[in-house]
Formats: sequence, C-alpha cells, structure tokens
Amino acid sequence: MKTFEETTAECTSLWSAASEYLRATSAAMYQQWFACVVPLELTDSSITLGVPDDFFADMIRINAMSYLEDALLRAAGHSLTVDFKEGYSAPVKKETAAEPVREVKVEQKEPEKDVRPAFIPGVRFTFENFVIGEANRYAFSCARSAAEHPGELNPLYIYGGTGLGKTHLLYAVANQVKRENPSAKVCYIPSENFLNDYVKACMNHTHADFRDYYRNLDLLLIDDVHNLANKTQLQEEFFNTFNAIYSRGGQIILTSDKQPSEIKGLEDRLVSRFQQGAMTQITPPGYETRLAILQAKQANQSTKIPHELLVFIARRVTSQIRALEGALMRIITFCNACLKSPEEITTAMAESMLCDILDSEADATRVDIDRILNVVAKHFNLHVHDITGSKRPKNIAEPRMIAMYLARLLTDLPLKEIGQEFGGRNHTTVIHAVKQVEDDCKEDPKLQHTIVQLKRELHVIDD
Ligand code: ADP
Ligand code: MG
Repeated sequence: MKTFEETTAECTSLWSAASEYLRATSAAMYQQWFACVVPLELTDSSITLGVPDDFFADMIRINAMSYLEDALLRAAGHSLTVDFKEGYSAPVKKETAAEPVREVKVEQKEPEKDVRPAFIPGVRFTFENFVIGEANRYAFSCARSAAEHPGELNPLYIYGGTGLGKTHLLYAVANQVKRENPSAKVCYIPSENFLNDYVKACMNHTHADFRDYYRNLDLLLIDDVHNLANKTQLQEEFFNTFNAIYSRGGQIILTSDKQPSEIKGLEDRLVSRFQQGAMTQITPPGYETRLAILQAKQANQSTKIPHELLVFIARRVTSQIRALEGALMRIITFCNACLKSPEEITTAMAESMLCDILDSEADATRVDIDRILNVVAKHFNLHVHDITGSKRPKNIAEPRMIAMYLARLLTDLPLKEIGQEFGGRNHTTVIHAVKQVEDDCKEDPKLQHTIVQLKRELHVIDD
C-alpha cells in the first residue's frame, strides 16, 4: 500500500505533467483557468482539484473540461474523473519575467489580438462511447451524418432536456471532423461564451478579428442557443455569422433545451434559419439504454460494482444521464474508499448514499393521479375508493391529505381538478390538506419519512 506522502507526491507530479500539456495547448487558457488550481488527491480512477469556488469549477467545466480531461489522460495514461473542491487557490505566477526597464516612448497601443484556442480532438466525448437507444437514435445518426457529410444537414438543430447528451454529440462531431481533417477550422462554443467573446471584441475594438474567425469556420458548434434570447445585438451578429458560414458551405450545429419556435425572445429570422435544416429531439432514455450506459461507463473504471447495483441505479435514476453517471461514480468512490471489495456493497447502502439524487429524481417525476391514489392506498392498506370516498376516520383522513399533497406536488393539475379526482371535493379542501401536511411535516419526522418513502415508491417505474 502506498503511503500518504507517496500518493500526494504522485498527485502533484501528475498535475504538473498535465499542466505542461495544458500550457502547451494554450498559455492563455492555462493562465485563465488552471494556474490557480491545486492538486489535492489522486486515486486509480479520479483526481480531486482544489479551486477557489463552485463558480470557478463550473467555468472550467463549461470552458475547458475537454482540454483538462485530455491533459490528464495524457499525463496518467488512462482517463480520470475530475472532482472539484472549493476553497483553494494556488498563488498565480505571472508567465512573464519582471518587466525590463524601458526607455519611455510614446507608443501607439496595438489592439490586443484575440486568442482562441484551436479545437483539439479528445477521447471523452466521441461517437464510439455514445450509447444509442430509442431516445437518441435519430439525433445520433443526424450528428454522425453531419460529421461525415458536412453541409448536407444544415443547420442541424438538436434539442432536449439537460444532461441527455447534446453537448456530447457536439464534441463527437468536432472530434471526428478534426481527426479526419486536422486543418478544418472547428469551433465548439456555448452561446454564453460567444456573447463574452463578442463583448470583448466590442471593448477591444477587435471586431474585424472576431468576424474573420467566426465567419470563416468550417464547423461551428454552438451549444445552448436559448441563451441568445433577448440579446438583440448579439442575435444580429449571430445571424450574420450564420449566413456567412452557411453560404460558404460550412456546417452549423446548434443545441437547445427547446425547439426554436418555443424560445421566447429569439428573432423570427433566426427561428426560421434554425428550422431550415434538420431538427431532432433527444428524450430521456428508457431503462435498457440507462443500463447500457452504466455498463459502458463502468467498463472504463477499474472498480466493478455488482450487476444488481447497476440495475438499481438504472431503475431509480431516470431523468438525466448526468445524474446516472454521478450516481455510479459516487458508489465506485465509496467502494474504493470504504470497502474491502465492491461485492460488499448492498442496495440499502446505495440507497442511503444516493438519497439526494433519488429525492431530486422523485421530485422531477410527473406522475398521474391514479398512480398516486393506488400507491397511497396500497401503502396504508386501504382501497382507492376509501381515499376518494366521503368517510373521515383518522386512518383514512390522513392518507387522503397525503395523497392530495402528493397530487399537488407531482402532477400539473390545477387545484380544482385535484378536488374533482378526490370524489368531487372543493379546491379549498385541497389547499387546506396541502398546508396541513406541510405544517405537520415540520414537526413530525415520521410523516416526513412516509412522504419520502411514498415519493420513491411513486418513482419506481418498471419500463
Ligand atoms: P446535455 O448537453 O444534453 O446537458 P451532456 O452532453 O453534457 O448533456 O451529457 C451529460 C453526461 O451524460 C455526459 O457525461 C455525457 O457523456 C453523458 N451521456 C449523455 N448521453 C450519453 C449516451 N447516450 N451515452 C453515453 N454517455 C452519455
Ligand atoms: Mg450541454
């Protein structure tokens, strides 16, 4: 077994090798995102990096994650997952030596040239490691065809909820195009960063540079275009960028959480440009795909957890692939840190370790009212008609209030309709029940527990 000092030394030396790669990729990017990062802990499968705060970690995730993962891969020889811990900052050294003493002369200051790091192919987000299922098959094949025959599906617009693989597909296209044609001008950019770049160009008077870069791209991948909404001047710039790339036969791929027509504050001319090519939606994956994704993610890890645990995660974490990955990584980390063998882990342990993820999954799930009535009735050993009926003994009145509370929380039905479903009761009865349950929960941990249990029961869907 390695000593603490040895592990720390390995972590530091791995980070300094990775830093070299990052610096070689782009000194500006290194200085902006990585100079103040502190290496904290290294395991076989992950590295923990100290950063000043959560926001900084998010900015790295958005702006430079693929570079970081690539650099770690090259330095370690295998891929590592990255955890960030807030509250750390290394003293940032200036890249340049002390300023030489110069003669004072009046100089015309040249506008600062914008430095945009070139896209470097990575291994994390590729077509090969994208698991295909019914929910993403069409999006996958469109993205693949845009990579193979750029300009044919133009633009390609991919939309869907968060954590479902949109960014992964953009990177997969960029990686494939860049591998096959290293001289292709490729840019992946989230639309917030496009905004920042535009603002910077306006401030530094480097507009010409900005236009020259974006309008001459062969492939522009712009992530989360809903963030262009309500920014008139930026939309104008983007419209012109779009037209310039399009008319030169360059490929444009856009992602968003909604269809173009549903983005409020997006100009009609952009809506119609976005609609003129191919549009494809990614929806949450079914159980089989979720399990296949977990198996694929586990294949890259040295620790293997028992199959029934993968089944447990796949059944319970249904809304986002990001959450699915997060749950798997948390269990693997726990097995490595606390157990002699991953075989020792039980479903009950996993359940308590993942309680926050499971609870937010349960809250995100919309269920129908019949299911709520059935699950609540079964839980309290009653019949559905007891709950919807008019009798009021305590053993029925309380489950009835709980069912109303859950109906309010987990369906989109208006109060009036909820009242109707409960034997034609008035909507004020529903308001009263919801308030009563909320108040009682504050005082009564047993009731809180019952509600959590019921939410989880409601959420276990066998598809
Ligand atoms: P989005 O951009 O839609 O919010 P991401 O592309 O960031 O989602 O995906 C979230 C995480 O889930 C990423 O780590 C990604 O690799 C993973 N992921 C999403 N879809 C798949 C898939 N079909 N196969 C494998 N991994 C996937
Ligand atoms: Mg994304």
